[in-house]
Amino acid sequence: VAVATSVHTLACHPLHAFGTAGQKERWLPEMLEGRTIGGYSLSEPQAGSDAAALACKAERQEDGSGYRITGTKAWITHGGKADFYALFARTAPGSHGISCFLAPGTAEGLGFGAPERKMGLQAVPTTSAYWDGALVDADRLVGDEGQGLQIAFSALDSGRLGIAACATGLAQAALDAAVAYANERTTFGRRIIDHQGLGFLLADMAAAVDAARATYLDAARRRDLGRPFSRQASAAKLIATDTAMKVTTDAVQVLGGYGYTRDFPVERYMREAKITQIFEGTNQIQRLVISRGLAQP
Ligand SMILES: Cc1cc2nc3c(=O)[nH]c(=O)nc-3n(C[C@H](O)[C@H](O)[C@H](O)COP(=O)(O)OP(=O)(O)OC[C@H]3O[C@@H](n4cnc5c(N)ncnc54)[C@H](O)[C@@H]3O)c2cc1C
Repeated sequence: VAVATSVHTLACHPLHAFGTAGQKERWLPEMLEGRTIGGYSLSEPQAGSDAAALACKAERQEDGSGYRITGTKAWITHGGKADFYALFARTAPGSHGISCFLAPGTAEGLGFGAPERKMGLQAVPTTSAYWDGALVDADRLVGDEGQGLQIAFSALDSGRLGIAACATGLAQAALDAAVAYANERTTFGRRIIDHQGLGFLLADMAAAVDAARATYLDAARRRDLGRPFSRQASAAKLIATDTAMKVTTDAVQVLGGYGYTRDFPVERYMREAKITQIFEGTNQIQRLVISRGLAQP
């Protein structure tokens, strides 16, 4: 549910940050009230980390009525279920030839693949989308033609804060389950939390969760103050999601054999943690953003 909320917010960002007053008045209230659900459609089968390699075409109609969309998009959270998609498609060659559209989920000529069979994230579908010359009205272009990649990355800067928050919550849940178990379970005549080897493991888990929370809140406060926060958002996503992966894995360890079963929630937490290191920019890509932020002009 947290990921669904985060992705919906990501899909609302282009209109909120780059839409005209008229577009916002028309669509934003129902989006923000949750009466419509959004998807964010940037990735393609051959273009994930390298978003500028996307090939889906948006051809402007000569009569100015709209754009014909043709191509395949991949990995869409809420695919087939969303009311609208923040869709990124090519109106010209090159990285400045990508444009953003607020595309309706019911467009004629839009079809979806079967939901991907995933390791986790079972609550939300992830599908491909097939655009077969579907017409999207001209007033659904968000920002200027060619501004799409800037809009996509701006949305991801904020979206990464959402994913960092989800990952921190996931790590906290795993820590809570591990601590509760370690206070109950006894071996060698004492609670396992009283064995220093395990107590220190829990201490490291708690410290990592605190650090993840502090890092994403720092980035979020910078955003709220209107200060640059792109590098900090990437650092928050990197730290919080790596923390989620490590803490959930360690939580399984704390529960021993029981941790490996579906009788306890920690094995699911471990499976859910993995995707947070991959979507909205893999953690390798976060390092790229951070290092570019450090490079002198
Ligand atoms: C469950 C799920 C939900 C998703 N939801 C959405 C969604 O709603 N909308 C959307 O648009 N996309 C979505 N995605 C797509 C996701 O963002 C991409 O999978 C991700 O960006 C990675 O792209 P890729 O899978 O093509 O991997 P690739 O880009 O092919 O990368 C493969 C590996 O190479 C590494 N790599 C690539 N380039 C570099 C580099 N320059 N330096 C170092 N390492 C590099 C990557 O880190 C990765 O480890 C989703 C994916 C999944 C699995």
